[in-house]
Amino acid sequence: MTDNKNYDQLLYKRKNAWSEIGEKETEETSSFCRDYAKFLDASKTEREFAQNTVTLLEEEGYISLKSAFGANQKLHQGDKVYYSAGGKSVIMAVIGKESLGKGINMLGSHIDSPRLDLKQVPVFEDTDLAYLKTHYYGGVRKYQWLSIPLSLHGTIIRGDGEKIDVNIGEDDGDPVFVITDLLPHLAKDQNEKKLGEAFPAESLNILAGSVPMDAGDAKHTVKLRVLNLLNKKYGIVEKDLVNAELEVVPAFKSRDIGLDRGLMGAYGHDDRVCSYAGLRAILAAGITKKTSLCYLSDKEEIGSVGTTGAQSDILEYFIGMLLKLTEGKSGDLDVKHVLYNSVMLSGDVNAAVDPAFKSVHEKNNAMYLGKGVGISKYTGSRGKAGASDASAELMYMITKMLDDNQIIWQVGELGKTDEGGGGTIAKFAAKLGIEVLDVGVPLLGMHSPFEVASKVDIYMCYKAFKTFLENA
Ligand code: MN
Ligand code: MN
Repeated sequence: MTDNKNYDQLLYKRKNAWSEIGEKETEETSSFCRDYAKFLDASKTEREFAQNTVTLLEEEGYISLKSAFGANQKLHQGDKVYYSAGGKSVIMAVIGKESLGKGINMLGSHIDSPRLDLKQVPVFEDTDLAYLKTHYYGGVRKYQWLSIPLSLHGTIIRGDGEKIDVNIGEDDGDPVFVITDLLPHLAKDQNEKKLGEAFPAESLNILAGSVPMDAGDAKHTVKLRVLNLLNKKYGIVEKDLVNAELEVVPAFKSRDIGLDRGLMGAYGHDDRVCSYAGLRAILAAGITKKTSLCYLSDKEEIGSVGTTGAQSDILEYFIGMLLKLTEGKSGDLDVKHVLYNSVMLSGDVNAAVDPAFKSVHEKNNAMYLGKGVGISKYTGSRGKAGASDASAELMYMITKMLDDNQIIWQVGELGKTDEGGGGTIAKFAAKLGIEVLDVGVPLLGMHSPFEVASKVDIYMCYKAFKTFLENA
């Protein structure tokens, strides 16, 4: 089969995608990432990402599936629909040429990211300073959140039932927040502690004020001034914060990294990078042979739980409504037929080899920045525990499709077998009978406030998703 003199053909080699693409694709890569940066900077929470997604979808002619269902409006080839669960998760689809029973080509990812949530009674005063107490969300290395500018995003339901959207710290004129760190001069004892123990969660308090209010004999007048300012701005009182979801995230915007601008640093690449790639892919793919679907889920970072997470029934609910409006049926078995014939690319980020921390990877089976979109046959930890292990058949189908369409890809695991591990929404899709494979963007500094991705990997991820929707 192989020409014996061409030994290169015997080997699997990862290619640096920058060296493989021409001028045109290099320009498309920067242009795609400029759009991504804009969208990401305006979407620092799952609610903001979902809202911006719905706005974009409506501009593109997508209609609410729930409204269509309520009106018993029949759907046909080429119709575009979406459903948003709780404003934190969005599923969108374009009805294809074949019947739904032949299966749907799906993209799945998540739009929540690690962060610090405010507790329900967050405001306190100590040493004439006002603070907000946090409860961290997802896997954070706590020390990374100290000494960086932070912004506050979220939603408060005021006493009168009015829903208030909060966004403080993103505009240039806004104040920001910070968690202060200990000075090195006095850190002797702290330096002796283990990294995992040196920064207790209850010390992650957000500095929020310092000027006392003239309030007669009242105590805690710095806290009072903070509450007074919130009252003036939003009309809320302290009790209203009980009915709120407020998230503390980095206040900085995404930036190009390096003199050659090949990398992009940002908060929330995990997993808004695959979510944005999926969103753009379904918008670009048009009417495809099979129905195309893109599922942007919530709560992945805490186990895909709750009514907006991928362990919920949202996908079945969506497909049930879709079936009813296209083919007039929606029984359990009808929905199962669709699911069992469907294929999903589960888009999530993976760890790229960091030259500073090489020892956690096994170099033959690791991912590298700039070597294309990353494919993981399985995730999980220590002996594939908790993994959805994709079949060799599905691996072949996807890698062949990528090769046929000149999309640069690489395979890799998260790290060394016994080093640790992680998961994605793939196993929850697999439980529904969907054939699923993890495909996404490798990162440096995953889960840090400033994660690093290669622009060419981001673009290859988008191309892989689009090609999948068009050809699978
Ligand atoms: Mn993720
Ligand atoms: Mn994650």
